[in-house]
Amino acid sequence: IKKIAVLTSGGDAPGMNPCIRAVVRTGLHLGYEVAGIMHGYQGMIDNNIVDMNSHSVSNILQLGGTILKTARCADFRNVEGRKLAFENLKKNNIDALVAIGGDGTFTGLERLSSEYDLQVIGVPGTIDNDLYGSDYTLGFDTATNTVIEAIDKIRDTAESHARLFFVEVMGRDAGCIALRAGIAAGAEAIMLPERDTSIEELIATLNDGVAKNKNSAIVIVSEGDKSGGAFNVAKRVKEVFNFYDTKVTILGHLQRGGSPSSFDRILGCRMGFAAVKALQAGESRKTVGLRGNKIVLTDIEEALKGHEFKLEEDLLEMSTILA
Ligand code: ATP
Repeated sequence: IKKIAVLTSGGDAPGMNPCIRAVVRTGLHLGYEVAGIMHGYQGMIDNNIVDMNSHSVSNILQLGGTILKTARCADFRNVEGRKLAFENLKKNNIDALVAIGGDGTFTGLERLSSEYDLQVIGVPGTIDNDLYGSDYTLGFDTATNTVIEAIDKIRDTAESHARLFFVEVMGRDAGCIALRAGIAAGAEAIMLPERDTSIEELIATLNDGVAKNKNSAIVIVSEGDKSGGAFNVAKRVKEVFNFYDTKVTILGHLQRGGSPSSFDRILGCRMGFAAVKALQAGESRKTVGLRGNKIVLTDIEEALKGHEFKLEEDLLEMSTILA
């Protein structure tokens, strides 16, 4: 290979910038040219591709979001769109690609590389931590820290006013953020997509808190919880349980932003470095991942097919005991 391109796609996640920086600088160090593709697969189709040098990635390690921007690109789902995209890669003499994103991004990468001669490596970047092949995805740690900080603040006001707060956090299919943030912030209850908690059970937990003279309660509701979101849960609880003044907070997109944590910075560096080293070794159609503090590669098809349950048993068990 002579020239590597890097892009970010799908939802942005803190840690993407450290990863871009690592891809660019490792690539240059190993003697390759490096290009950045703007706005994910859309930039590939629009030929929005810029050459990168070491200075292009100066001072971005600490920035949230992604300097390459990101997008959801419908045209890339079609054969014609990918043809156009590949022609633009050829025009730019690009023969290898690192794509940072989630499941959809990996699917696009799998399609493109099965149709054309191109070396590709995927890097898991999503705050949800819901990808197979890596214990952690880029952005998850920062997002969890952001949620914990927000809940700590909510606790201050909840305690002062004797309030019950329902806090909705991101995670459509995975309760990873909810579970960790709930344990770290001492939430009274955590509603997860992976675990059914009935409204009756939730009320019993809240009544336990009242019996222990708790002055406030915080219930974390994962976006994908089957009860239908924080407003819905709050409404149903309020019909029967009225001990506290009840409030709902949807944390929303603030969970995506912010300076990456030390963990996400190092993970971004490791994964970007490993992705380029993998390309150098002739690897393709693989995703990079962290397994037990070791960087590993997984076949992209296996990564797309595989599913793993990422909520640790001990965390699940303690979540109902420690609060
Ligand atoms: P997140 O988990 O943060 O949502 P993601 O990578 O899963 O990230 P998507 O929007 O699902 O986000 O996918 C990113 C892009 O990947 C899509 O906008 C599209 O361009 C491409 N993509 C997704 N699915 C396919 C597919 N089946 N075929 C080709 N390209 C796809």
